[in-house]
Amino acid sequence: MQKFDLIVIGGGPGGYPLAVKMARSGKKVAIIDKSSELGGTCLNWGCIPTKALLASAKGLHFLKKAETFGLGAGQISFDWQKVQQRKEKIVLQLRQGIEKLLDKSGVTRFDGFARLFPDKKIRIEGVEEELTADKIVLCVGSVPAAPAVFPQDRSIFWTSDQALNATEIPESLLVVGGGVIGLELGQVFNEFGCKVTIVEMMPQILPGLDTATAKRLLPVFKKAGLEILTGKKVEGLEPLNGNAKAIIDGKEREFSKVLIAVGRRVNHAFMQDTGLEIETENGFIKVDETYSTSLPGVYAIGDAIKGPMLAHKATYDAMTLAAQWSGQQVVADYSLVPSCVYTYPEISWVGKSEEALKSDGIEYKTGRSLFSANGKAMTAGEADGQIKTLFDQNGKLLGTIIWGPEASNIINEGTMMSQFGVDVHSFSRMIHPHPTLSEAFMESVESAFGGGVHG
Ligand code: NAD
Repeated sequence: MQKFDLIVIGGGPGGYPLAVKMARSGKKVAIIDKSSELGGTCLNWGCIPTKALLASAKGLHFLKKAETFGLGAGQISFDWQKVQQRKEKIVLQLRQGIEKLLDKSGVTRFDGFARLFPDKKIRIEGVEEELTADKIVLCVGSVPAAPAVFPQDRSIFWTSDQALNATEIPESLLVVGGGVIGLELGQVFNEFGCKVTIVEMMPQILPGLDTATAKRLLPVFKKAGLEILTGKKVEGLEPLNGNAKAIIDGKEREFSKVLIAVGRRVNHAFMQDTGLEIETENGFIKVDETYSTSLPGVYAIGDAIKGPMLAHKATYDAMTLAAQWSGQQVVADYSLVPSCVYTYPEISWVGKSEEALKSDGIEYKTGRSLFSANGKAMTAGEADGQIKTLFDQNGKLLGTIIWGPEASNIINEGTMMSQFGVDVHSFSRMIHPHPTLSEAFMESVESAFGGGVHG
């Protein structure tokens, strides 16, 4: 049996940064994943491929309105196969980058599907020798949740995996779930000419987003051509002559394809038929503040445990665990994990929403600024959107909600201000370059205090 100081199962945005960090600190580290899947959901079936498709979609969107920039784009066309090839190339390049990083850091790589057995024994498909380690970290991530009530024929009833690898644009697409995946992929297919209908069972899209912002966004997406039904359920779904028949709000409708985007669940495949018993909580692997599972010497991070299922949260877990192992007194705090939706306009939020502040009985002041008053947004032709900042009475920033251009970048100002407790007076001394989109953040902060924070 081969023995390591640390074995990381899963090479996603939780697993590989942890392996690199620990190897660089002198530990004997191994990481196990299928070579074609290093980078995890984020790189292979999530963040990166979706962003590549969205970039092509946004490019097309701008071509369509070239005239507003004084440009002529002639006959606008696209080649979906090339759009897909571009996405594949980006994914491959990034995956090779991770491979190099692991190799350079001295991490031993095993390519294959790993199973964890009792007593910390690991068997890898295609590898004869068993492995073990002082510490094993489960970074096994998540897979799309496709509840059994939905038909399972993946040629018609897609999860995000099939949608991302679609070989052609369907004529029409029903998206079940108005969450992040539903909106991002819904927008991609809509831009490329597919008739997209999103059905969300909750009263608003993107549950968790500040309600007023979610409401304000509906007409924005509808104007772009998306049909969005909130507070509605898909009551029936079945195949019909190669298409899908759906009952929505009592009415029968037909779609070429269906995308089931109703969330994700923990990937438990690593323990199938192993006799391993590990404590779980609501489907997630249960861990304490030290990321320890119920099995001695076995830890878990990322999507497999509580907290938002986001790549940057998994990396944060990895860095928190490494810091704990190096003796630092730190524990995870998920109260300031930024959420980002990479549609155009982008949507991003961090900290508390207005609803959360109200239900906590916290009095707050609201700052607001509009991108329509921001020079950079106007010149870029992306003047739709606003930044809302929520402060307590002492000027502490409790929440930031942005929709508009580069929301996912600007949100960092809000996260930093909240995380480090920067008060509005100190913040107002910070120089923002002009013209930039981030000036809109500064203006939102100032407006909360009647523009009177200078001096
Ligand atoms: P989600 O949790 O974001 O949204 C699922 C939506 O489906 C919810 O709004 C829910 O109310 C709705 N829903 C559930 N059952 C339904 C039903 N039967 N009918 C209609 N609506 C129903 O999940 P997702 O969009 O599938 O994404 C999965 C995970 O991946 C999430 O944790 C998400 O944060 C993550 N993700 C993140 C990004 C990003 O950060 N940009 C992008 C994609 C995915």
